[in-house]
Amino acid sequence: MSTPGSTGSSAALSALSTTGARRGTPATGKLRWYFGPMDCGKSTLALQIDHNHARQGRQGLLLVRHDRSGTPRISSRIGITRQAVEVDDTSDPRQLAREKWAAGLRVDYLIVDEAQFLSFDQVEQLAELADDAQVDVYCFGIATDFRSHLFPGAQRLFELADELYPIQVEVLCWCGSAGRFNARVEEDRILREGHTVLVADTDTSSVRYQVLCRRHFRTGKLDPAAGRPGQLSLV
Ligand SMILES: [Zn+2]
Repeated sequence: MSTPGSTGSSAALSALSTTGARRGTPATGKLRWYFGPMDCGKSTLALQIDHNHARQGRQGLLLVRHDRSGTPRISSRIGITRQAVEVDDTSDPRQLAREKWAAGLRVDYLIVDEAQFLSFDQVEQLAELADDAQVDVYCFGIATDFRSHLFPGAQRLFELADELYPIQVEVLCWCGSAGRFNARVEEDRILREGHTVLVADTDTSSVRYQVLCRRHFRTGKLDPAAGRPGQLSLV
């Protein structure tokens, strides 16, 4: 027995139950941006998230740009590494996902390390994967370059990401304040100009990076105890 009224309510119920069914599994993936200074444990966290997902039987795709190891992998300073796909200027994350799908694999989540080096387009392609293919995207990287200006990939992630996660676990300036900026230093002097990405091997060049708080990045004051092991600054 169907009346216009009951049809209407059953339609409403089925709409409700659809909504209820969707509540358990989100209809879209999320684009998440984890950012922090150098050495803050970003890659370690990336690998931990990968591990947690994989343990739940989810399948992921790991991408990296300019990995410091020189081979495409996500490597953390505490010794854990995972093979990854190197992304260059011409890479399209959507295409990389399609290749997995074509091989009969799922891409439930995607992890991108060194995501600050992504282009605007590549970040937008990641957002598209989250929206249209329900892929959960986790991006890890540094927000600002040695001049304290946003990297292009970081900028687009701040603009588009669903969730922002500042990582401020353990990196401190020499003064004890939170380290937020990656200063490029040569002979105890902060460099304010140059290319965004340092091509030279920092191990053999006299140029190095030092994480500083905003005040000491601004004033250029480096650790007065540097180079004098065992001495503590009282300033
Ligand atoms: Zn400081």
